[in-house]
Amino acid sequence: MTKLKKRIEQIKQKRPGYGEILDFYQKVKEAQAQVTASLKIDPIKLKKEWKELLTKESFSLIQKEDFPLNIEASAKLFQTLCQIGKDSNPHMAEQVGKIKEVLDNKKIDLKNLLKEGGKEQRIEQVANEFGLDKKVFSFLIQSSIKPSIEAGMEQLRSELDPETWLKGYCPVCGSLPSLSLLRGEGGKRYLICSYCGYQWRIDRIFCPYCNNQEQGSLQYFYGEGEESYRIDLCDKCRQYIKTIDYRNLEESDPSLEDLATLHLDILASQKGYKRPIPNPWAHEKWYMGIGR
Ligand SMILES: [Zn+2]
Ligand SMILES: [Zn+2]
Repeated sequence: MTKLKKRIEQIKQKRPGYGEILDFYQKVKEAQAQVTASLKIDPIKLKKEWKELLTKESFSLIQKEDFPLNIEASAKLFQTLCQIGKDSNPHMAEQVGKIKEVLDNKKIDLKNLLKEGGKEQRIEQVANEFGLDKKVFSFLIQSSIKPSIEAGMEQLRSELDPETWLKGYCPVCGSLPSLSLLRGEGGKRYLICSYCGYQWRIDRIFCPYCNNQEQGSLQYFYGEGEESYRIDLCDKCRQYIKTIDYRNLEESDPSLEDLATLHLDILASQKGYKRPIPNPWAHEKWYMGIGR
């Protein structure tokens, strides 16, 4: 946490426009770290055939819904995050108020919903039914189960070789990547799973969203004076992934670096490219000032 706080301070000084969003980020991370410190989850029992399927058919080891969740801890974290959100900005405060009302009237069962936390459709359905902002609601649910998901991923880490998978989806849970990283000598490229956070190696010339490997239709651009961050564009699927280049940047939380460069997402979107897995922290109603 100390390192994270230091990095947040650095970014704030460089980009004061990000102050509000970074304060929020830090509080959420602190709350999650507290849960993680004493978190207990059930062991994942891998079946032998699952590993065979991984090797032979390239199936991921498990699926999103197979992660064991500590529901008590997630429910408590949900309440904490609601409080943090309430104090962070007016839109969040309004949404948290609505969510509380629905929960207080027992119209939804929070624990049941958390159990289904991996199902984006279910969250969407509930949000629609009660007129909630889907993005905020989903953020709160996903962030509440995140410590359990990451603990589950850690259990499975030893089953896999991150250097040899080389596919556009996560070998642990099958989800799409949210970011890519360059690190090490020569700049090996890695992807980060948007759901469980696992990192695995990938070719330098590769679009993880459509498997395009043709150099001619893959390009990238940097932010001005920010050579450590780039946007990798694919002209085949018109989508992009953000790449954080750690060769000249101290190792830090990739999701923080992503959040601190939302102005690059705005640029990519202006060029007509879509981001399949948007930054979960980015919400147009929270952070209007960024990129202006
Ligand atoms: Zn994953
Ligand atoms: Zn593509």
